[in-house]
Amino acid sequence: MSALFQRVAVIGVGLIGSSMARAMRKHGLAGEIVGCARSAETRAKVLELGLADRCEADPAAAVAGADLVVLATPVGAYEAVARAMEKALAPDAIVTDVGSVKQAVIRDVGPYLPEGVHFVPGHPIAGTEHSGPEAGFAELFEQRWCILTPPAGTDAAATEKVVRLWRAFGSRVEIMDAGHHDKVLAITSHLPHLIAYTIVGTATGLEQSEQSEVVRYSAGGFRDFTRIAASDPVMWRDVFLNNREAVLEMLQRFTEDLTALQRAIRWGEGETLEQHFRKTREIRRGIVEAKQAGSFDPREPDKKV
Ligand code: NAP
Repeated sequence: MSALFQRVAVIGVGLIGSSMARAMRKHGLAGEIVGCARSAETRAKVLELGLADRCEADPAAAVAGADLVVLATPVGAYEAVARAMEKALAPDAIVTDVGSVKQAVIRDVGPYLPEGVHFVPGHPIAGTEHSGPEAGFAELFEQRWCILTPPAGTDAAATEKVVRLWRAFGSRVEIMDAGHHDKVLAITSHLPHLIAYTIVGTATGLEQSEQSEVVRYSAGGFRDFTRIAASDPVMWRDVFLNNREAVLEMLQRFTEDLTALQRAIRWGEGETLEQHFRKTREIRRGIVEAKQAGSFDPREPDKKV
């Protein structure tokens, strides 16, 4: 049986790119995989781990002859990568990506794709706080959602091929408008990361004596924030810079809700607090029932997430 794609170029072989390469190998979805990374160290690691048949420094060399190109660098690098690969893309190639924001990606990459090349942007709702080629694993996407945001007029057959790729990884696929994606993810992913980065920063700013208590008693809730706040700094810088409006809008609403809870605490309004906490507990139950409560990480099989 022939593979879904004959040659796949993965530009940026980190957590997500290497997980896709591993999953493509595991399920026999690519005849050949070509990696692309800036640093010689990453390129050597990619080959050592057998993630790609070859690994290039130049995006143009990586995408030549590929029928699928996956952009998996931090989104701030996309425009430069698109510019570099523009002339080398095969006619009729499919370009997809995994970036955590979608409107900015369409803005930055779209103009560089020649006529005949199909662009099917995507975002797997799966990840860990680890980075780099060693951090990936083939099962990362199993039972997770992958959102695709093909712009209006995208070739349906190209979209369908990308859908088949994600389904073969074990993902559930949803097609969505890019603007809607950015709003939804601003509240479900981007704002929670911002809050985690803030609270861990606040704790770091405490007096030395209080700081050691923070570590000792971190299981009281703080520990979960530190895991999220350990996520890749460059990736998250790019997410906030590229989903500014939606994040600022959600942050405004969050600030108002926080002020309401602050007032309830100040005035001893136990009923308000309890009602609020009961509602949020229901949300958690819904997530558990939808089997979206945790992801399996083979390096930490006993860890509850
Ligand atoms: P990562 O582990 O840091 O991997 C990114 C890789 O890209 C690095 O190995 C880096 O290697 C390479 N790279 C960076 N700039 C490059 C460039 N200009 N050209 C070629 N390679 C370059 O990051 P990740 O977590 O996989 O995230 C990648 C993308 O997935 C991001 O766009 C992110 O928004 C999205 N995403 C992440 C998650 C998550 O939970 N982490 C989830 C869903 C989607 P070199 O430094 O050697 O070049």
